[in-house]
This record gives sequence, C-alpha cells and structure tokens, in this order.
Amino acid sequence: MAAYDVTVIGSGPGGYVAAIRAAQLGLKTAVVEKWPTFGGTCLNIGCIPSKALLHASEMYEEANHGFAEMGIGVDPKLDVPKMLAFKDEGVAGNVKGVDFLFKKNKIDTYRGTGSLAGPNKVRVTPDDGEPQEIETKNVIIATGSDIVRLPNIEIDEERVVSSTGALDLKEVPRRMVLVGGGVIGLELGSVWRRLGSEVTVVEFLDRIIPTEDGEISKQFQRILGKQGMTFKLRSKVTGVDTSGNALKVTVEPADGGEAEVLEADVVLVAIGRRPYTEGLGLDEVGVDLDDKGRIKTDDHFRTSVAGVYAIGDVIAGPMLAHKAEDEGVACAEIIAGEAGHVNYGAIPNVVYTYPEVASVGRTEEALKADGVDYKVGKFPFTANGRAKVNRTTDGFVKVLADATTDRVLGVHMIGPDAGTMIAEVTLGMEFGAAAEDIARTCHAHPTLSEGVKEAALAVAGRAIHM
Ligand code: FAD
Repeated sequence: MAAYDVTVIGSGPGGYVAAIRAAQLGLKTAVVEKWPTFGGTCLNIGCIPSKALLHASEMYEEANHGFAEMGIGVDPKLDVPKMLAFKDEGVAGNVKGVDFLFKKNKIDTYRGTGSLAGPNKVRVTPDDGEPQEIETKNVIIATGSDIVRLPNIEIDEERVVSSTGALDLKEVPRRMVLVGGGVIGLELGSVWRRLGSEVTVVEFLDRIIPTEDGEISKQFQRILGKQGMTFKLRSKVTGVDTSGNALKVTVEPADGGEAEVLEADVVLVAIGRRPYTEGLGLDEVGVDLDDKGRIKTDDHFRTSVAGVYAIGDVIAGPMLAHKAEDEGVACAEIIAGEAGHVNYGAIPNVVYTYPEVASVGRTEEALKADGVDYKVGKFPFTANGRAKVNRTTDGFVKVLADATTDRVLGVHMIGPDAGTMIAEVTLGMEFGAAAEDIARTCHAHPTLSEGVKEAALAVAGRAIHM
C-alpha cells in the first residue's frame, strides 16, 4: 500500500498550499523540499523579502521628502545592514509559519531533491546521506522557476546580481544599471533608487511592464522618471566588463547600431524567470514539456503521466504566487474527487512600487486585437478627495466594460494602494459584475477606492467628481 495519497515536490506557494488543502481533505500528504527552509522563491527570495525592502525604503523616502511638508521634522539616517536584518526577520517569520502549518496539518516533510522514480514513486536525495523512496498514489510537481540569464554575462550576486543578490546588497550602489523593465526589476530598482542609487533601466522593448495596459505603462514610466529613474528603451545590454573598479556595461540599440558604454557599480539582471525542472527525472517517466520548457498539463493539472500533476511557475500562465496558490488548492481538490477550478480571467497583477500598478482582466490592446466592442471609464486621483489631502494624486483608474452588456472586462490602475483596491474589482469580475454594479456599490468616503467607483460611473459618462 502506498505510504501517501499525495506527495508534493516543492514547498513554494503552489506546493505548500496544495499540501495543506490535500491534508484538509483527509489525504495523507508529504512534501519534499531541497532548500533548508520552506516557502519557495516567494517567501525566501521573492515576494516577501522584496516587499519588506519596498516598505522600508518607502518609509525612508517619505521621511526624507514627504514628512517636512506635513510639519514633521526628522533627520533620517540610513543603516543598510539593519534594513537587511529587518527584511531577514520578516522572511524568517514567514517561513516558520509554513513549518507550523505543515505540523498543524500533520503533513510529513522530507529534505532533499525529489525526483520521479516511477509512476507512483518519489526518490528523495538529500545533500548528504542516502536517497530514500516514497510510495505515493499521486505526485504534485511544484518546483517553481529560476532566473533567466544573459549569454556572456556572469552573475556573481555581488556586483552583477539577479533579484536574489539585489535583495542583499551590503551598501547602496552609487550607480545601478537595471537590465529589463519588468515588474521584479522595477520593484528592486525602486528600492535602491529610494536609498540613493542612480538607476538606469535598459529595456529591449519600446515600453516598460509590457504585459500591462499601454496607457498605464506610459504613465508609470513618466512617474518613475519624475522620481529619478532613467530609461533606455529599445536597447539591449550585450556585455559587462568587470575588470575595473567600475563595471562597464555595453548597451546597443535593439535593432543594431552604435553601442554606448555605461558605468555602474551594480548591474541587476532581471529579464524574467524560467520553469525549473532540473533533477526531476521527467524524461525517465515520460512527463512532457511544452516548447517553453514548462510541464504540459490539461485543465485539471494532469501531466502526460497518470497520477502526476503540476502547478505554479513550472506550468503555463502568469508566474505569480497567488496563481500558484489557487492552482494548489484546485489540484488538491481534483485529486480528492472535488471540482477544483481556477478562473484565469480574474487573476490580479500588482507592481508594488510607489505608486502601485494593479490590473485584472484584459488590456485595451487585447480587446482591440480581438475586435471586442468596449467602453472606457477613467478617473484620475487628482480628483479624489483623499488622494488630494494626502498629496498622493499621481495615477488613475481605468475600467473597460463590454459596450453592449456593460460587463467588466478589465480594470487597470496606477495609484497609491492600487494593489489592495484591485481586490474589489477582481471579486466583481468573479461574479460577472457590470460596470454599473461597481458604480452603484456604496464606497466609504473619503477613500482612494472611491476612484474605482468613479471610474465605473465614468463608463456611462456620469462620474460625479470630474
Ligand atoms: P517556487 O516558489 O519557486 O517554489 C518552488 C520550490 O520547489 C522551491 O522551494 C525549490 O527549492 C523547490 N524545488 C525545486 N526543485 C525541487 C526538487 N527537485 N525537489 C525538491 N524541491 C524542489 N509573485 C507574486 O505574486 N507577488 C509578488 O510580489 C512577487 N514578487 C516576486 C519578487 C521576486 C524578487 C521574485 C523572484 C518573484 C516574485 N514573485 C511574486 C513570483 C513568485 O515568487 C512565484 O510566482 C512563486 O513563488 C511561484 O510559486 P511556486 O510554488 O510555483 O514555486
């Protein structure tokens, strides 16, 4: 008899949530993790540490530039080691939380690299010690993702860093070149810019945060530019000379042409992440990958091998912790014979800079490309009472609704706390809300979320405060 109903490989937000849900459903569950702590990329080197540094650096910037005009006099002093310790304590608290939840739910844990040793067998190979084999009815692969590297540019995690090294710089670099204008890079670039770095962003495409709505992306770049970031769009970094005291970064136009050399103290390479499948033994048991190296699954998270499932960053879809979590829940429910499901049309996306960018649903570009007839309602935070009094008026909310049915198709916002405010429209979209439903929902005054209501009113041309 198999020792387990479910064995999960990987304890990131996909894996640990799947394990907890499986245990809640009465399935005997094990987790295999190769890192010393649980929680995966998200808790150890991703969402959680980056948000700790974003929070601390935002406070520092506010103390330096925002307090005086509110009548608060302070003389802030930066202590980088202490700020890193603050971040590390936050991470430790979170990863211990996962440990506690595993124990509470009676989930067995194994330390080592997990691989498929047969259809119903997982081999655990510890860093030191003998491998052992676990008999299991089902396997959930939740091994996440790893950084994408650039050819010819070696990451030493000290001067040429990935997001992992950028979470741990021992001092503020005077000049930082950020390769890639995506979410992770701009968040970490914002941290170090607030702490004093001159940050230059080199982006291959003609816009930053390219998957977001175009209007939001333009406004975001303008605001980050006002904050002091410099952008080189349609450009690529082709080499980093590390031989001298200053790094010499070669930047070429994306379409070819004359190169220029930028000097920097730190180069942050943040050009994306790739699915991580190394060491799993997928070939041996016949688990298929797609053309992007992701584990192929059907809409029940089943791979090409019976009893083997996959979720999170290692399969298709946005590489987001909450997407991985929701897939973990749905996958465990499907294994338990329930009707687990993820609505991919209502997965919010947030950039945790200041101001925040948040979106859910489809962009204007996507609607145009699909020939969908839509209406737009927009409302700027300059017209929101709370934003005005707080002097946080950068940004706007944009609601896209079907021209015939008024159903909300997408909401895009840039502004203070947008990451929190996106939850209400995500819930609305889950329930198939019309713009009018949001517009007629009473919103507390004075709140920034009144901006969402006004943008929904603006879909029918009847915003009140504009
Ligand atoms: P992971 O979290 O990557 O976990 C995979 C786990 O599997 C790891 O613990 C790994 O050690 C383990 N593993 C791998 N192979 C094996 C093996 N063979 N045997 C045993 N164990 C194995 N997402 C958001 O939604 N919000 C954010 O704010 C956000 N910020 C981010 C900031 C940064 C700097 C980064 C890098 C990422 C960020 N992300 C964010 C993305 C988020 O971290 C990922 O989408 C999420 O962690 C994916 O979860 P997962 O469970 O699929 O995999």
